[in-house]
Amino acid sequence: MSVKDDLEARSGSTCELCTATNNLEVFEVEPVSISGVDSSILACETCRTQIEDPEQMDPNHWRCLNDSMWSEYDSVKVVAWRMLSRLKSEGWPKDLLDMMYLEPETLDWAKATGEGLAEADKIIHRDVNGVILENGDSVVLVKDLKIKGSSQVAKQGTAVRRISLDRENAEYIEGKVGPTLTVIITKYVKKI
Ligand SMILES: [Zn+2]
Repeated sequence: MSVKDDLEARSGSTCELCTATNNLEVFEVEPVSISGVDSSILACETCRTQIEDPEQMDPNHWRCLNDSMWSEYDSVKVVAWRMLSRLKSEGWPKDLLDMMYLEPETLDWAKATGEGLAEADKIIHRDVNGVILENGDSVVLVKDLKIKGSSQVAKQGTAVRRISLDRENAEYIEGKVGPTLTVIITKYVKKI
């Protein structure tokens, strides 16, 4: 039996992403070390075109992932994860991603093409002057800052060393003010 025959058997001759039944072809899920059923999915032309060309993405088509992300096959889950990552800014795909669980090895496979990274790269932290902040930088406070959950106030001019960036929000960094680790808003700090 060919890979295509095997995939047709496991999927009941439907697209493993959107259940369409026409123009089905084998789609290899990169990176492929051993070609075969385990590293492939059966996908319709609509799905294949949009996977390969982000310019042609129709976010609504991918509502189908709501079901197919629960596939028992890793190769299907990997593609679902990648497409949800690509569409994350739509909102609903992010909710689905949060529900999805991949075994560590499968997650490494899903991440191997760098899908979803572009989104994270867009989060750039800047200080009050627009200077880009990075993990490990030191900053000073440009205004007095109330420390959340305490009565303490950190005075303007207080240095905060070795900050860490909030990966999900460009407006927040974390740093130690005295002994307390606290969240600080980027527009209230200046890089030193
Ligand atoms: Zn499809």
